[in-house]
Amino acid sequence: MAEDGCTPKEKGFLTDTDKNPSNILPQKLTLDSRLKFRCHPGVSCFTACCHNIKIVLTPYDILILRGRLGMAAHEFITMYTTPAYLEKTDMPGVQIKLRDDTGGCPFVTPEGCTVYSDRPTACRYYPVGMADFHEGGTNEAKEEKFFFLVKEPHCKGFEEDREWTIREWRADQGVDTRDEMNKEWLRLIMRRKSFGYQASLSEAAKRMFFMASTDLDSFRNFVFNSSFLDTYEVDEETLRAIREDDVALMHFSFRYLANTLFGAAGMQIRREKIDAKVREIKQRQDEAVKKAEQEYVELKAQYEQLKQAQEKKESQA
Ligand code: SF4
Ligand code: SF4
Repeated sequence: MAEDGCTPKEKGFLTDTDKNPSNILPQKLTLDSRLKFRCHPGVSCFTACCHNIKIVLTPYDILILRGRLGMAAHEFITMYTTPAYLEKTDMPGVQIKLRDDTGGCPFVTPEGCTVYSDRPTACRYYPVGMADFHEGGTNEAKEEKFFFLVKEPHCKGFEEDREWTIREWRADQGVDTRDEMNKEWLRLIMRRKSFGYQASLSEAAKRMFFMASTDLDSFRNFVFNSSFLDTYEVDEETLRAIREDDVALMHFSFRYLANTLFGAAGMQIRREKIDAKVREIKQRQDEAVKKAEQEYVELKAQYEQLKQAQEKKESQA
């Protein structure tokens, strides 16, 4: 969406390209492909696409929007969002809560979007979706990326005569910056998706993912006011950054989640914690061995008793 426009229907800024296949043109595009499109207050469909839509919010979207509105994260989440599962996984996230009366986004007015310069990632994508296949969701995996057009019948923007390359369009919409901010978080979801449900994720892990993804205030509180720093080694520079800077904290949360949810490298457990864990495991093993020995002795005694009873019976017969 350009100028003071808005954005239609659910968009594929995640890779869910099969959501509405009839509206997706079957052509893989590159950054140099061309697109004819313009959205502005003069189009007859102006703001139509800010109604009855699903706008999933990324952690960066939430950070920017709540900053714009001057709200604490939990206030923003309560007032403007509703729970959503991300990308057909069991990963919990949020989407914008539409108004009950109009079905419209709470930020849309007849004049356009009231948070336009801080609008969410999903709103910036239309009408150019991106499919990003990051094999297994890992950093090292080969990435395959292409673009596609989402063309909905009610959207008159395609009838305008402004022409762009996909690269120009994305730059104009500020999508590249958002992609950079969102990529580690999207990778977590892709990891979950590629692991499938065979790999179980505990409810506590899902709660942690939700908290870190939606409420950085609570995540900061968790880092600084729990046993977190007794468990993990975090250098002074990082600590300074995440205490003050929300974006640094957000990236740190992605690193922490990748480590705890999927075993990725990037977090260092303190030596004394590892030693204590090793001692605990060894103690449990020792106790198990002792118990097994005890059971063996008891079984052997029972066997001896039975044997003696049997011999006695045979000698009396
Ligand atoms: S945030 Fe703005 S652009 Fe996005 S749906 Fe709402 S009003 Fe439209
Ligand atoms: S032209 Fe398309 S993107 Fe712009 S307001 Fe109309 S439907 Fe929405």
